[in-house]
Parts: sequence; structure tokens; C-alpha cells
Amino acid sequence: MPSLYRDGIPRYILEMDILQQIIHYSGHLLIPGLIAWLLFRKNWKSAWLIMLATMIIDLDHLLADPIFDSDRCGIEFHPLHSYYAIGVYAILLISPKTRIVGVGLVFHIIIDYLDCMWMEYL
Ligand SMILES: [Zn+2]
Repeated sequence: MPSLYRDGIPRYILEMDILQQIIHYSGHLLIPGLIAWLLFRKNWKSAWLIMLATMIIDLDHLLADPIFDSDRCGIEFHPLHSYYAIGVYAILLISPKTRIVGVGLVFHIIIDYLDCMWMEYL
């Protein structure tokens, strides 16, 4: 029978972390494709690419030290993940010209926020 622990960490915790990673990366990469198809069906492929490009806001992690910390909630920590920035992303939803970018950015924040909830409650 396999051990319930690996390196002293209960296996169910390790498996939850893997599930969190899957949700995080599919949330940032695949689900925008689905949203693009649902909301912008006529040009869903370019909408998907634009939404993927909104991941550029994660460049603000380069300002942080350490750059990556799996136990840190990015919302309100990084400048492009601040409530001010989120307000700007919400405004982008209003005009049809900026809406795809706005949807990509707001959805990016939602996925990052899910991570924060995950860290807090699981
Ligand atoms: Zn992010």
C-alpha cells in the first residue's frame, strides 16, 4: 500500500496543489478560448489570442521579491493586480472596442483570485 505521506506532507495536500495548478493554468490558457468562443464567436480565435496576451499583466511579478511565491496572493500585492488596476479593467468592458481585452483581464483576475481563496480556505 502506498504511503499516505510524501516528504512528510500528506498526499491529499500534494494532490490538491496539483488540482490548483491545473485549475490555474487551464483558467489562464484554455478557458479564455471557451469564453472567446461563447462571447466573440465570429472572431473567437483572435479573441482568444488577445485574451492570452492579457497575461502580460503578470510581468508585474518581476517587481516582486521573490518573483514567484506559490503561497502569496497576487491580488493587491502586484501593481497590475491592484484594485485600481482592476477598476480600469472593468472600464474596458464598457466599449466594444476594448471589451475583449477587458474580458481577458477581468477573467485573469478572477482566476488569480480563485488561487487566493484556495490558499486561504484549503
Ligand atoms: Zn496574474
